[in-house]
Amino acid sequence: MQHFSIAAIPGDGIGPEVMKEGLKTLRKIEELHGGIRFSIDVFDWNCHYYLKHHRMMPENGLNTLRDYDVILLGAIGTPEVPDHISVWELILPIRRTFQQYINLRPIKLLKGLESPLRYKNHSDLDFIVVRENTEGEYSNMGGRLHENTPYEMAVQNNVFTRYGTERVINYAYQLAEKRKAKRLTAATKSNGINHSMPFWDEIVKEVSSLHPSVQTDIYHIDALAAYFITRPEQLDVVVGSNLFGDILTDLGAAIVGGLGMAPSGNINPEKAYPSMFEPIHGSAPDIAGKGIANPIAQIWSIGLMMEHLGFEEMNHLVVSSIEEVLIEGMIGTPDLGGKNKTFELGDAIHKKMQEVSVQHN
Ligand code: NAD
Ligand code: MN
Repeated sequence: MQHFSIAAIPGDGIGPEVMKEGLKTLRKIEELHGGIRFSIDVFDWNCHYYLKHHRMMPENGLNTLRDYDVILLGAIGTPEVPDHISVWELILPIRRTFQQYINLRPIKLLKGLESPLRYKNHSDLDFIVVRENTEGEYSNMGGRLHENTPYEMAVQNNVFTRYGTERVINYAYQLAEKRKAKRLTAATKSNGINHSMPFWDEIVKEVSSLHPSVQTDIYHIDALAAYFITRPEQLDVVVGSNLFGDILTDLGAAIVGGLGMAPSGNINPEKAYPSMFEPIHGSAPDIAGKGIANPIAQIWSIGLMMEHLGFEEMNHLVVSSIEEVLIEGMIGTPDLGGKNKTFELGDAIHKKMQEVSVQHN
């Protein structure tokens, strides 16, 4: 029997609603696999906690998390707490402290869904975005000057270290080497951003020479955003800085069925620290409390978690069960054009996991 400890942080808004389904996925995996046990501790660190304690997590919060094998996150954020507090005091410290320098975001049109891109089908929409996750544009260096004068200004520094840039690009090449198309697309803006982006491009070229089997394209971020729509079939592994990767993946989610369909992993490849798995969407205050959030992004994130833990077949089981439910088309939340509740879609997927695994045994 293999044991894994999981720290679950449901968060705010629809976070707890989709997490509830995710925790059921974990129980279903235990039941179907037979050789895996999860011990799950749930932490109430969210904006509500902040309003009570003036911090997003206890002082020893990061130390508490360090001992877990993995962290599962729902989503964080409420209108009452400014986003720079909720994100900067919870999600970013976790990503940085645990050196989760890879943010892995598959963009894949599952069978049973149509893309809003009219002429694209499943084989056209199957790539993966590797987002740098610890530095870049998300740095807290800079500040405000001359406040309350006409000369007021805000300065935001971007931090690109050689170490941080090389390791994410290297990871992306290694991933590309394992894929069929062996193609890497790097996002840049070296025509507009003076220091960091030429630096980024040079490192892409250096690392590319170590991976001769992979074809490299370097595209400006604005053009690349357009290619997501016009020629996504030419994308295989896309690597981008923290901000570029963030923006590109909400766009990526939109072309494969929306934010409710998009999972992610914040990964420490060396496994020196826990990795964290979460949907890429936020707390969706516009639909929170109605029980209609799509749980697929959260459930699929658990599939990614299983792959990270060495159980690739469990990721396949999760994804193929989601696909079967979508193909049948009987159950769907409103974002998928259906009328069902979060738990109904979750239940349908878990029932399908049972059926699919019986067929294969
Ligand atoms: P959002 O992702 O919460 O919502 C954007 C749109 O997508 C909304 O219309 C929402 O209803 C829809 N949506 C998102 N997830 C869905 C799901 N599972 N099912 C159906 N529809 C879904 O982004 P936002 O509105 O920009 O941000 C809201 C809050 O979430 C903010 O406080 C923001 O800071 C926070 N946020 C948190 C994270 C995170 O926890 N990692 C990520 C992004 C945003
Ligand atoms: Mn985002």
